[in-house]
Formats: sequence, structure tokens, C-alpha cells
Amino acid sequence: MTQAVRVRFCPSPTGDPHVGMLRTALFNWAYARHTGGTLVFRIEDTDAARDSEESYDALLHSLKWLGLDWDEGPEVGGDYGPYRQSERGEIYGEVVTKLADAGYTYPCFCTQDELTVRREIARKEGRNSGYDGACRDLTSEQVTAFESEGRTSVTRFRMPDQDWTWDDLVRGEVTFGAEHVPDFVIVRANGDPLYTLVNPTDDALMGITHVLRGEDLLSSTPRQLALHGALARLGVGSGELPKFGHLPYVMGEGNKKLSKRDPEASFSHYEKAGFLPEGLANYLALLGWSPGNDLEFFSLTQMAEKFDISNVNANPARFDLKKCTSINGDWIRALDASDLADRILPRLIAEGVLPESPTEAQQQVLRAAVPLISERLETLGQAAGMLAFLFADEPGSKPFALDPDDAAKLLDEQGIATVQAARSALVNLESWTTEDIEFALRAALIDGLGLKPRLAFGPVRVAITGRRVSPPLFESLELLGRERSLARLAAAGS
Ligand code: GLU
Repeated sequence: MTQAVRVRFCPSPTGDPHVGMLRTALFNWAYARHTGGTLVFRIEDTDAARDSEESYDALLHSLKWLGLDWDEGPEVGGDYGPYRQSERGEIYGEVVTKLADAGYTYPCFCTQDELTVRREIARKEGRNSGYDGACRDLTSEQVTAFESEGRTSVTRFRMPDQDWTWDDLVRGEVTFGAEHVPDFVIVRANGDPLYTLVNPTDDALMGITHVLRGEDLLSSTPRQLALHGALARLGVGSGELPKFGHLPYVMGEGNKKLSKRDPEASFSHYEKAGFLPEGLANYLALLGWSPGNDLEFFSLTQMAEKFDISNVNANPARFDLKKCTSINGDWIRALDASDLADRILPRLIAEGVLPESPTEAQQQVLRAAVPLISERLETLGQAAGMLAFLFADEPGSKPFALDPDDAAKLLDEQGIATVQAARSALVNLESWTTEDIEFALRAALIDGLGLKPRLAFGPVRVAITGRRVSPPLFESLELLGRERSLARLAAAGS
């Protein structure tokens, strides 16, 4: 029988969630859902100096926002908890003792200065500059001597003298020569366990079967394989080593690794700009994977149906903000109008376009206006600018204002005359409908004044909506209503 899949997402809560990290979460989620396995969400918060509760909250929020869920971890619990490493100190203490008692580790008294000097000498002599094993075989007299000097010791793991090869789920066979994997520190001098210990220990104890993570962690895999081997021999965990798959780097502008400082790197950028969770998740999925047949537009459910780790591409993926934005636009157009209106509404309130509790009439206008702008919208954040004119001057909303640049360009002498002619054409219109408004304006401005459409309607558009770019003009006039439209034409034409 094949073993049930157990994957994990185990970020460290430092800073703003990063899109590369969310891509890792997404791929683990998709693999768990595809296989009917379990997604464990573990928080690697053993670095008190860098970890923050704020970042922890932001992490949980970003995953939920994207539409991901997890089967074990914060808020849901599970049989393998606690799921925050800061609460697992006792467990690590026991593992460290077991490893030491069985001779897998040794105390290392080398100071940072000594290590630096020896590393420099090795480098100059063209030798391997990794840890040289100076404390590997200390006698008990040497240990006592160091201790009586007042030295403290870290705990180092004794690497077996062998090359390390594994069949990476993404990259195929990967090998690291023994000389590249020296003995490494697993516990600091103050007793704090390090990532090198706690990460594989928890993978072993939590029965993780597949470790899917970023390529930046590739070089830590030989050490983790060695530690897993020792833990298995000591009976810690199931004894089954996980399989490893390293997801490709995510590159930013100029083909450099996407750095935390790049604006497109942080999750909060997308939430603020008004990306849809569906759009961002869809784009993140394309960073190293695709469902095939050139399909680039799909939902999380479709991804989970199709996702297989063996289809992940080992080549670096490029983060293309334009493409991400355009996929988001496709998602906006895929929503039905009332869903889109519901998602736009809170943004309009937040930006003061609508009052805290919009009236039923305002909500109706919004629902009618949304289909008019969805073609032009790439993010929800653009909606407020396009729709503000419909609600301006109402109680609790901002006053109507012309965009100064657009007004300067279009409401010149000729523009003002055009607006006046438009008002005269509309003032006695019998029925205030899109068709009749269009008919009257075309007759007056194009047939009557002989203007080209751009010159005819541009000034009217600015007078009515405040901007050169707006929802379609005749529909906008209908939605705004006779009285307010005529008042705006009068104001701009005076
Ligand atoms: N806490 C580690 C990180 O955020 C996780 C590494 C791993 O997935 O093994 O980089």
C-alpha cells in the first residue's frame, strides 16, 4: 500500500509574507488536495530576535485570503502538535540528548574568531573552507580544559563521511560530495536549537512524506538527510525518510532573484491594490507549473485536480507583474456582476466614495455600473476612480471634482462650447435613457456642430465624470440621472 501523503508548509514568521513563500504554500496545498493527503502548517518560530506575532498573523491571513486551508496546524490543531516550534522546546531537548548519547553529535568549543582565521587559511591554501572537524574527537581531558578556560560549546552534528544523492521530485538526481557537507551546528551555546535540527526533527515526528520547498534550501538537504538517518536509527519518528522536491527560484526584474524589497514581492501589495484571491493564486500557480495545453486561466479547484509534482519545471520562473495583473483582469471579468459589485463595495466605502452604510439606491447604481467598467478593470483598486462621479456630492461622499489635467486639456474654449451644446440638446429630452441620450448628443454635436466623436464626447465625458477615462458615456449619463447630469454640464459650461 502506498503511504498517505503528508506535506507541510513551515514558514518562519518574519516580515511581510513573500510571494515566493505563498507559491510554496500553494504547491504543497495542491499536492495534498490532489492526492487526498494532509497539509500540515507549522510555524518555524525559533528565532525570537526575528520572529514577530504581527508577521504570524499576516501569514495566516495571507493563506486564508488566497483560499488555502490546512488540515493540521494553527487554529485547527491536530495529533502532532504543538505546531509552533516555540512551543516544542522540550521535544527538541529530548532529541538533542538522544543524539548526543548515541554519539551523533559532539560539543564544539571553537570560537568565531578561531573559525574565521582557519577558514581564511584554508581558502588561501585552496582547501575546503567548511568546518575542519577540530573538536570532533576531543578527549574528556580536552573538554574539561576548554570548560575550565570558561569556553562555552555549541553542539555539532557529526556528518558521516559519504556523498549525498537523492532523487529530487523536481530536479531528478542531485548529488553533493562529502567535502561540501561538513559537520554542522544544531544547538547554540545558549541552548537554543537551530533550524538545522528542528526542521528535520519535526518533519520526522510529524510523519512528513514529501518536503516541497524552494530551491534556496537545496544545500541544506544533505544535512537533513543525514539527520533523518540518525533519527530513524534512534526510533524518533516513523523511520521513513521524506522525499524532497525543490521548487524553482522566482526571478524578478533583470533576471535577479525576486528580493523582499521588490514591490511585487510582498503579499500586502496585492491585497492593497485590489487583486482577487483567485487571480493571484492562479498566477502563483504558473510560477513553475502549468496544467498543460497552454491553459493559463484556472481555479484552485482545477489546479488541485491536475497538480502533480512531477510536472513542476526545474527552470527558474520569472515573476511578470504585467501578466499577473492581466490574469487578474480576466478573473474580474469572470465574476458575475453582483459578486464583483460586492467585492468593490468595501473599497468604495474605504476610499470615501460611498458612505459607511450605502443606501439601497446607491447599491443599485453600483450594481448597474459594475458591468460598464468590468472590461476596463484590472484590479479592484481602479474601481473607485472610475465610479466616484456617480456618488459624488451625496451625503457622506466626497464632493464632485474635475481632474485638473483632464479639464485643462479638454475643457478649453471649444470644449466649453461643446458642453453647452450638449446641455441644450439634453435639457428637454423626454425620456432619460441611454439610447435617447446618445441619439440627442450625436444629432447635436456630430451632425449639428460637425465634430469628430472624440472632440464631441471628450469634453462631455470630463464634465460628467470628471475624467477622460470613464465608463461608457451615454450609460453613465443615464445612471447619473437627468438633474445631476444637467447640473454638471451647466457647471462645466459656465
Ligand atoms: N522555515 C523555513 C523557511 O522559512 C522552512 C524551510 C523548509 O521548508 O524546509 O525557510
